[in-house]
Amino acid sequence: MIKPCLFASPVGISRFIRKETRAMPNKINWKFLTIVLCLLLLAGGIYNYVRQVSLIRADTEHAFQSRSELLGKFVALHRDQVTVMRNLLADRYAQTATEAAPPLGTKQLPALGVWAVSDSKALGNATVTGDLAFPPTPAMQREIASAIGMTPQIKAALQFNADVVWAYYLSASHFIYLAPQTPVEQFRFSNALYQRSYWQQASPKANPARRMILSGPYQDLAGKGWIMTFAQPVYDGDRFLGVVAIDLRIDTLQQLANVSDALGETMMISEHHHLIARQHGFEPGLHVNPPLTTKLIDWKEDKSSDLWLSSQVVKDELWLVHRVQRNQLYWAAARETRPLWIMIVLMGLVMALSLRLKTALAEVTRLMHVDPLTQALNRRGFFEKADMTLAMAQRKQLTPVVLMMDIDHFKKVNDTFGHDTGDSVLKQVGSYLGKGCRPFDLFCRWGGEEFVLLLMLEGADDAFAVAERLRQEAQRTRIQPGDQPVTLSGGLVRVQTGESVEDAIKRADLLLYDAKHNGRNHIEVEAALRPAT
Ligand code: GH3
Ligand code: MG
Ligand code: MG
Repeated sequence: MIKPCLFASPVGISRFIRKETRAMPNKINWKFLTIVLCLLLLAGGIYNYVRQVSLIRADTEHAFQSRSELLGKFVALHRDQVTVMRNLLADRYAQTATEAAPPLGTKQLPALGVWAVSDSKALGNATVTGDLAFPPTPAMQREIASAIGMTPQIKAALQFNADVVWAYYLSASHFIYLAPQTPVEQFRFSNALYQRSYWQQASPKANPARRMILSGPYQDLAGKGWIMTFAQPVYDGDRFLGVVAIDLRIDTLQQLANVSDALGETMMISEHHHLIARQHGFEPGLHVNPPLTTKLIDWKEDKSSDLWLSSQVVKDELWLVHRVQRNQLYWAAARETRPLWIMIVLMGLVMALSLRLKTALAEVTRLMHVDPLTQALNRRGFFEKADMTLAMAQRKQLTPVVLMMDIDHFKKVNDTFGHDTGDSVLKQVGSYLGKGCRPFDLFCRWGGEEFVLLLMLEGADDAFAVAERLRQEAQRTRIQPGDQPVTLSGGLVRVQTGESVEDAIKRADLLLYDAKHNGRNHIEVEAALRPAT
């Protein structure tokens, strides 16, 4: 029994052959494969990118940890130095009775409004000046002597630690001890010193806990650049004596904030969120307000989506923070994975291009084998498949027949209704014939309004019936306008064993010629295929 079929196109034939042989692999879906490969590449790229983001974050954490440790040690060292100074002064003060304090030689400098200790041997590498309105009393002499007692330690600190710019003791009794030694003309005591922030912060009212004060940064009055102050109050029992302090260069902090490479920027900020030092150039007076955490590695995000790490260098006083802008992080990861992305894009392009090329080639191949008007095979397509079809017929013990059909009086159709109507008729006939045969049959537009069908039948007996059915199918075609019918004539032969398709077609053509002469609108059949009456 003949099943209705789709087009007898090359696709249909190859499907049939595959089904029959079952030896060939399933057709590869290149488009699907390309999409899967592209998706895999993309997934690989994304995985790598995400990995890169976490690598950069890990590197940043590592660098921040190192910076935090270094700065912590640096700050602790100088805090200890100030504490040692305070202890030296306080101990010496406590150990010396006022009466026992050695009187120091002082000179008065009315033009400058100060007095100064003139005993250079006792002073060492320091200067002591005080307000002329408060000349040194024995109690002050005791305090001055205690301050001078710090000199050897301060001298060593100044000599071996380039970060220390100044070491000093500002007394509540209107004098100052300053090292290294500075001419009084350049620097001397003035009441304005009590307005400086370290004094204000360290004084008993502001600092009842007597803790270490960090102050700054500010420009050094003597022009030594940006400095910050570590200050600690000195007490004699409950009596506030003054404040010892050292001034440190900011640029060392800056250098420490630059240790090891990391994305983003490290900054040192005070408890009041004043910027003290930053990795890339210092801007005075800048206020930084990051989300702080006491956990060392704990990324926090602020309102503008910047990511922050923070570490407390001095409890409640000094913070080291590190900022990475989100975009900066993503761009850095993109930069790092750039070669991979370029490769992925190139591979994607190559795959897309090869797919396009493959599709274009398939289309070109199809056009080379198929008649564009009727979608039937052209002669080239027909002959390429014919041998295979015949071989298959032999293997499957099917009967191959050639049916040649020609539309009757087609010239008249063209002449009467025009070429477009003629084309439409050809299209319809092609469509009906194509649909009428099975996938493994070959259907070819032989030329003009002639069609050749190579059919494979179960047996020779039903050849005429099949051919006639196909002819009737084709005659469903209607000429527009007017809905007029068309008729076809045909010649039907069996392809003999060993006979070529060309020879069989020639024989069918002769029978078609007979059909035309015998009144058209019927099929002439060779004797072997003629149905028994
Ligand atoms: P017969 O019944 O003897 O076959 O007569 P006929 O008029 O069909 O045969 P003839 O060979 O005299 O004319 C065939 C016509 O088919 C001539 C040609 O213009 C027309 N033709 C061939 N190819 C096409 C085509 O692609 N489109 C159209 N519209 N006409 C075509
Ligand atoms: Mg004709
Ligand atoms: Mg013809």
